[in-house]
Amino acid sequence: MPKDMTKTDTIFDRRESEARSYCRNMPAMFVKACGSELIDAEGRTWIDFLAGCSSLNYGHNDPDMKAALIDHIAGDGIAHGLDLHTDAKADFLSAFERHILEPRDMDHRVMFTGPTGANAVEAAMKIARKVTGRTNIIAFTNGFHGVTAGALAATGNSYHRQGAGMALNGVTRMPYDGYFGDGTDTADFLAAMLQDNSGGIDAPAAIILETVQGEGGLTAASADWIKRIDDLAKAHGALLIIDDIQAGCGRCGTFFSFEDMDVTPDIVTMAKSLSGFGLPMAMLLVRPQHDVFGPAEHNGTFRGNTHAFVTAKVAIEKFWADDSFQRELGAKADLLRDALADLAAMVPNGEIKGRGLMQGVDVGSGVQAAYICERAYEKGLVIETSGNNDQVVKVLAPLTTPVETFHKGLGILLDAAREAVGRPEKIAAE
Ligand SMILES: *Cc1c(COP(=O)(O)O)cnc(C)c1O
Repeated sequence: MPKDMTKTDTIFDRRESEARSYCRNMPAMFVKACGSELIDAEGRTWIDFLAGCSSLNYGHNDPDMKAALIDHIAGDGIAHGLDLHTDAKADFLSAFERHILEPRDMDHRVMFTGPTGANAVEAAMKIARKVTGRTNIIAFTNGFHGVTAGALAATGNSYHRQGAGMALNGVTRMPYDGYFGDGTDTADFLAAMLQDNSGGIDAPAAIILETVQGEGGLTAASADWIKRIDDLAKAHGALLIIDDIQAGCGRCGTFFSFEDMDVTPDIVTMAKSLSGFGLPMAMLLVRPQHDVFGPAEHNGTFRGNTHAFVTAKVAIEKFWADDSFQRELGAKADLLRDALADLAAMVPNGEIKGRGLMQGVDVGSGVQAAYICERAYEKGLVIETSGNNDQVVKVLAPLTTPVETFHKGLGILLDAAREAVGRPEKIAAE
């Protein structure tokens, strides 16, 4: 056991709220980070397969982003500019238009929100309600969309929901792709419910979905299902909101998680890896005809983080100006799948989940998954779980992880699994 784990009288124990979470299982005092590695105060190194929950898709302290940010600060560049015009905002928007929106034929406008994903989701839901004059929003089982009241209403997880302390209204829950197994087509189910005058679902303002459920267990919807949900939204006058906060920015192998699916989301929410550097920044993409908020109708003091604009522009230009990075991601996703197949084979009914560089293994129970992650941490790998019972061991390595480091991290994960599989049952039997 690392020495820190035995400490009970740290400043964190004394003063930090019980609401803290990740640090409980990974109590090291981290002081440095570089690329795909985290280093603690005692000089111990961990390979990072959590990557700030996919906020660090380009790794820690990317040298080009770091240099640009240091230059910006050293030159007295704007640090906070409300939503005033700044060179940093213009440069980010230009890079995003040129390398992301135009090549994908997207006519969306960019709306900066407060810097958290939840705030982007709040804004998206409000826009859909304003556009349609309807209140109901359809969200799916195991969806995670943030924990502020509006976004929490769309989030499925009961632990998070009960934290609201109030009724969470305005959302109808529907089964996600595959929820009832192969036998039931949940897009057909939704179609039937919406079509029936007595189906009991109020006409929806929007349908919101993740293409791969980040917190909800890495279930990946099929392209066909997503396309049919898009068609249903359009047929019923609802907006399609794709929450790409975790699955976007390359995580699924392309910049957006829904590319090559022939869908046109009315709104796309983005946050997490958008700044590229781990700085808070969120925004939504909205089709021009739905860009209906008046000035500051959805406001926020920190709409657009100027430092994040600086690093986000570098991220876009460095990784997305041509398709070389994207091609690397395909190769890494295959490598990941191969290693996860070995892990899945170790546990009874182990199942590979997700796609791209957002994959993991359902190991059957949260206790088993926690044992694997705990062993991995002891061996120098930071990794977390996902799912309605935290039963999925989830790999979110930085997309830039060098192949050698990736192999090393996966090797640690497999070693950890070898030691941990079956251990909960053995302990229970003792
Ligand atoms: C993390 C996440 C959010 C919430 O983002 P915060 O920055 O934590 O508020 C919303 N949707 C998805 C899909 C997420 O993964």
